[in-house]
Amino acid sequence: MWLVLFGPPGVGKGTQAKRLVSYLGIPQISTGEMLREVRGASGPNAQKIADALDKGQLVPDELIVEMVSERLAKPDCQNGCLLDGFPRTVEQAGALEQLSGPLGMELGGVFRLRVEEEEIIRRLAQRGHRENRSDDKPEVVRHRLDVYRQQTQPLVDYYRQRGRLFEIDGTGSVDEVFERIRITVDRLIPRQPSNNGSVDQKQPS
Ligand code: AMP
Repeated sequence: MWLVLFGPPGVGKGTQAKRLVSYLGIPQISTGEMLREVRGASGPNAQKIADALDKGQLVPDELIVEMVSERLAKPDCQNGCLLDGFPRTVEQAGALEQLSGPLGMELGGVFRLRVEEEEIIRRLAQRGHRENRSDDKPEVVRHRLDVYRQQTQPLVDYYRQRGRLFEIDGTGSVDEVFERIRITVDRLIPRQPSNNGSVDQKQPS
C-alpha cells in the first residue's frame, strides 16, 4: 500500500515521514530530497531542477513522474512506501493512479497535515537559518506557498472525493503530531503481531 504525507511546505512532512517509515518499516520517497540530490549531480536535468528549486517552482510533471515511477518500481517498494512531497499536482495524482495497476499497489491514505499559515512561515524562517536551504529565503517561501495554494491544494478535494483523505492536526510537538498520525494509520492498517510492520500486511479474511 502507498501512503502519502500531504501539506504545505514547512508543515512538518519530512520530520513526520521519517518517524512514520521507521514505525512501519517501509521506505520514504521524498521527491524534494531526490531532486536536491539530482541537482548536485551533473546529469542532463540538473540545471532545470536547480532553477525550479531556487525559484520555489514545481519541477515539470513529466520529469517528476518519471523519477517517481522508476523509484516505485524498485524492489524495496514492493511492500509499500510513504510518499513525501508527491503528488503535488492533479496531473501527478492521475499519474500515480495509473501506476497502481502495473505495480500492483494501491494508494491507502493521504494524511493531510494542517497548521496555521503564520506558524508555517515562522517554521520555514527557522529552517532557513538552520539548514541554509536556497528555497527557504523569505521571498521564495512566499512563492512556494502561492504555488502550493494554486497547484497542490486542489488535491485536497481530489482525495476527499475519493475517500482517501485523512486530516491531521499538525500543531504541537513532533511527538504529539506523530501520535495523531500513528492512531490514524493504525485504524487504516491494523497491525498484526506476526509480521514486521510492512504496510501491505492485511490478511484476507
Ligand atoms: P520539498 O522538500 O518537498 O519542500 O520540495 C522542495 C522543492 O522540490 C519544491 O519547492 C519543488 O521545487 C520541488 N519538488 C518536490 N516535490 C515535487 C513534486 N512532486 N513536483 C514538482 N516539484 C517538486
